[in-house]
Amino acid sequence: MIHIRSKEEIELIRKSALMVSATLSEVAKFLKPGITTISIDKMAEAFIRDNGGIPSFKGYHGFPYSLCISVNDVVVHGFPGEYELQDGDIISVDCGFYKNGYHGDSAYTFAIGNVKPEVLKLLRVTKESVYIGMAQARENNRVGDISYAIEHYTSRLHNYGVVRELVGHGVGKDLHEDPQVPNFGKRGDGKKLREGMVLAIEPMINLGTKNVHTERDGWTVRTNDNKPSAHFEHTTAVRKSKGEPLSSFEPIEAAELENIELNSSQYSDKITVLIA
Ligand code: MG
Ligand code: MG
Repeated sequence: MIHIRSKEEIELIRKSALMVSATLSEVAKFLKPGITTISIDKMAEAFIRDNGGIPSFKGYHGFPYSLCISVNDVVVHGFPGEYELQDGDIISVDCGFYKNGYHGDSAYTFAIGNVKPEVLKLLRVTKESVYIGMAQARENNRVGDISYAIEHYTSRLHNYGVVRELVGHGVGKDLHEDPQVPNFGKRGDGKKLREGMVLAIEPMINLGTKNVHTERDGWTVRTNDNKPSAHFEHTTAVRKSKGEPLSSFEPIEAAELENIELNSSQYSDKITVLIA
């Protein structure tokens, strides 16, 4: 069943979604080579609980952590652990925040230090594709219009691999609700969109093959060719003319820049890339 949320409900989802953005901006400030991914998870869980929230992911179908942390060729659902971040890594951080009966869900892929230009481009295109998909999240469009727009931009225009096995979703009282929102598909296919639906739009885009596999832990999804993968996600309200993001990348981007400036000697190459 697809829910149409009231104005009040959407404001509660927005509050939770913006707390995800706040958590991810704390993550952005915290990131540097040498830190373990479990330390990021612990910091984020403390931040979520200090702000009166519950980490949506912890215990969800048995997932043991507050964040999904997926490094390099891990697409999504990576376990935080003792791995120490290295210069040149990318790290996708997916976070959910639950408060007042509603979830927010958002993800962001960060570059650690000097990342190869072709991988920085993958991050940029994947982030842009969230907005390209979101532009289609308007009344009387169909889910397939979002799916097609993301696939066309990332796969047809940029020749990246679009993950098929994992999709976006409705979000609200439950973390995952109907409808599914694939990142590939045909225009005009699928459920009709109505103002007040809330969708998590979340392209998972690979530098190489679209094919992925799940590891023995039952969670970690990795690319079959071990090339890097990026993941960006916004909780999005369907509106009359285009989707409205309820989460925000702005505080995350500001924190990223602050972090880069702090580590400017180490990250000098990246500053040039960002300004360009
Ligand atoms: Mg998510
Ligand atoms: Mg999601």
